[in-house]
Amino acid sequence: MDTFPKHLAKTTPYPFGIKISHAKGSYIYDTEGKAYLDFISGISVSNIGHGNQKVVDAIKSQADKHLHVMVYGEYEQAPQTAYANLLCQLLPEQLNQVYFVNSGAEATEGALKLAKRVTGRTQLIACNKSYHGSTHGALSVTGNETKKYAFRPLLPDVKFIEFNSLPELETITSKTAAVIIEPIQGDAGVRIPSKKYLQSLRAKCNETGALLIFDEIQTGFGRTGKMFAFEHFDVVPDILTLGKALGGGLPMGAFISSAAYMEQLTSDPVLGHITTFGGHPIPCAAGLAALEVMLNNNLIDQAESKGKQLELGLQSKAVKEIRRMGLFFAIELHSHEDVRQVVNYCKDNGLIGFWFLSANTSFRIAPPLTISDQEIKQGIKVIQDAFDLLSN
Ligand code: PLP
Repeated sequence: MDTFPKHLAKTTPYPFGIKISHAKGSYIYDTEGKAYLDFISGISVSNIGHGNQKVVDAIKSQADKHLHVMVYGEYEQAPQTAYANLLCQLLPEQLNQVYFVNSGAEATEGALKLAKRVTGRTQLIACNKSYHGSTHGALSVTGNETKKYAFRPLLPDVKFIEFNSLPELETITSKTAAVIIEPIQGDAGVRIPSKKYLQSLRAKCNETGALLIFDEIQTGFGRTGKMFAFEHFDVVPDILTLGKALGGGLPMGAFISSAAYMEQLTSDPVLGHITTFGGHPIPCAAGLAALEVMLNNNLIDQAESKGKQLELGLQSKAVKEIRRMGLFFAIELHSHEDVRQVVNYCKDNGLIGFWFLSANTSFRIAPPLTISDQEIKQGIKVIQDAFDLLSN
């Protein structure tokens, strides 16, 4: 029976439907008191687990000072400045200005507009099976036709190339404003490209004057075992987009580039990109506190060994392949029906795993980076029991 609140719009006919009471550490609790081990982190958001006291304190302390005071880009607000400073300290020097927005999709929108403004070109290139958000511009560069067909017309002048295909880089020309790409594709089911591919992509963008946009909305903040996934490949983008874990559990996005490029959004036209709530002081304070927790506890360094431990524990004849970097996992099963059964069994037995948008035979897990050895063992047991019930 559908028990979803009737005055809330739904995104699917079959919502996950857990009635939330509270969440702490690696666990989410429902209103009946049942605990769920959160192996999905709200889709790569709760990278430091739930209810971290330092984040909660930062939110309360900022709430006591002020909430919204002005649209983005007019007043100087200490949490914005402090957070932008720390992010830029962690980034290569050419990524030295942060534009805060409210979501991942908005970060995509800002990045695409910036690339058009800087290059004076219109063509955008993206990858098949990519996901960059659900607004019109972001959907236009999303490579999943099943999510797009009902909403045309979308942006003109968008071309798609195969992810990780060197020959297809020839599509990039002096007409291209930007190539937008996830350095590791998330919703395509954790697709990891070769270093050579991303380096050749960088070279092709340099040669043609196209800007390179890395969408790290899902892969950022330690998920893959580095602060940003691009660090695995020794390739620096012209524009970086962030979201999800950026706000420490509060809604937030950002696009980051050089001061020289960002400056161009201030003229011709003036107010080239504007937002009322972007850079709101509370998400900035929360995100800054969450990032400090991550850095002070060396959580990023632990992601790879924890991921390996999980990977070893999840070997099974039900599994065709595990694609993983750090704690970013796609577990390839034999069929979509297998994924459905595993997701449902895990849910019934107190573990949250999920689906991918463009990989329907893959089971998705992305536990918090704070996951303990004991919780990893508990998670492996539930998932292995689910695998054991599959017929193959
Ligand atoms: N880009 C990537 C790679 C994502 O995974 C997502 C969300 O899943 C987005 C963009 C869109 O972010 P949001 O849902 O905050 O708009």
